[in-house]
Amino acid sequence: MHSAMDEPLLAAEVSEPGSRPDPGGPVIGIIGSGDFSRSLAARLVASGFRVVVGSRAPGRVASAAFPARVELCSQGEAAQRADRLLFVAVYPEHYHSLLGLSQQLQGKVLVDVSNASSLSRPEQSNAERLAQLFPQSSVVKGFNVLSAWALQAGAHDGNRQVPICSDEADSKAAVLQLARRLGFSPVDVGGLCAARDVEEAPLVLFPSWGRPVLLTFLLFLFFYGYNFLRHILLPFLDQGENNFYQLPLVTVNETLPAVAIVTLALVYLPGLVASVFQLARGTKYKRFPGWLDCWLCSRKQLGLLSFLCAGLHAVYSMCLTLRSAAGYTLLNTAYQQVKTGVENSWVEQLVWRSDLYLSCGILGLGILAVLAVTSLPSVGNALNWREFTFVQSGLGYAALTLSVMHTLFFGWDFAFFPSAYRYHLPPVYLLALILPCTVLVGRVFLALPCLMFRLAKIRRGWECTRHRPPNHPEPEAAGDVYGL
Ligand code: NAP
Repeated sequence: MHSAMDEPLLAAEVSEPGSRPDPGGPVIGIIGSGDFSRSLAARLVASGFRVVVGSRAPGRVASAAFPARVELCSQGEAAQRADRLLFVAVYPEHYHSLLGLSQQLQGKVLVDVSNASSLSRPEQSNAERLAQLFPQSSVVKGFNVLSAWALQAGAHDGNRQVPICSDEADSKAAVLQLARRLGFSPVDVGGLCAARDVEEAPLVLFPSWGRPVLLTFLLFLFFYGYNFLRHILLPFLDQGENNFYQLPLVTVNETLPAVAIVTLALVYLPGLVASVFQLARGTKYKRFPGWLDCWLCSRKQLGLLSFLCAGLHAVYSMCLTLRSAAGYTLLNTAYQQVKTGVENSWVEQLVWRSDLYLSCGILGLGILAVLAVTSLPSVGNALNWREFTFVQSGLGYAALTLSVMHTLFFGWDFAFFPSAYRYHLPPVYLLALILPCTVLVGRVFLALPCLMFRLAKIRRGWECTRHRPPNHPEPEAAGDVYGL
């Protein structure tokens, strides 16, 4: 049976993927002669299409701005000559000025490329308004996420996604096909009611990063302030010690590892909290509180921020010896040693300590780098569920353990000396260890067989009696699966 989907959606169907349509094939129209129109026209011509650009005043438009094969004409003429598809490349405020073209646009597919002007969520999207103004045409939303520059440059990486939506299946399919031919990856996001989200997409500023970045920044402020108080301000007020030179590098470098390890612990803490909720409730079918949902969704961002801080800490640490202050300190220590007649200052215990803490730090950073790489969609998508869980959970806990060991080897036994609590303030690394150690202990606790098996059962759909629907017996298989 012949269906609408069997019809060539553009007049010139390309048989081979990647081949170009016949230059004598369909004419694609563009209303408006601005930046977007110029880039789109160039891209269409480069892909082998014929293009007519309709302007209010074609004589005024610099024809050199368009490729030679593009025809500039009046808006009415462009609407008339376009075979089926017409891009509306004018701002939505000017849609009403096109009402005079209703006759010529009848039966044509209008592609609305406009973006929202703000994130104020108006009642109607631009595309819905265009559809209301031109009920005899079918409106498709799309291409708005591409900048004029990206359009001109082309989709070099081949994975530039272009969301497209419309209430008319055939028209949408035609635009999806065109996007594919221009080298983009079109994504069908449904009906025209999705247009508002599509229009706002280019305006949203890192939507999932706000809270994790704020949290990391607040942690940085806290630890930096604590270090400033403990190492710089109090010694200055108390004994007139001038350590202010430490502010730009040493203090930052003492702050970064504390932020990195606490942020990494915050990646794994919500998983433990979620497990505790499920164990306590005896079901996985009850929603987590909103704050926990939100926290669970921010784990990837927190992990990447932790990696950033750890990476910066590594670079800062390598630069410590390049400082003039480090040179002077070394010379002064050597001079003091000569003066006091010490020939060999080798302390075996300190040698072991520094080697172990450096080694744990390097390994921890390496594993964090692996976690960061696998969080890229292109890499993560290549892993199956088990591989992804092994990397993100197994290796993640390994990174956290190594980071804790790195800190413990750094602190060694100094935490037990009263001199470590200058001005009654504990060293910053001790504060930074509280949360990671809590997470590791919690993880060990949840690995106890009595809790682990119960949690596994709950995650396979088992529910305790108070949550089970009435007259619904406990599934027998659940016990068998775990040999309980
Ligand atoms: P533009 O450079 O200002 O061009 C807009 C065109 O609209 C003008 O060249 C003009 O063409 C026409 N126009 C101006 N005033 C008009 C009026 N009063 N009535 C009717 N037509 C009028 O803007 P643009 O950057 O090309 O953007 C056009 C659309 O594309 C917008 O909706 C924008 O949101 C969308 N967009 C742009 C980009 C981008 O990177 N630029 C990216 C994504 C989406 P004529 O004088 O020839 O009639």
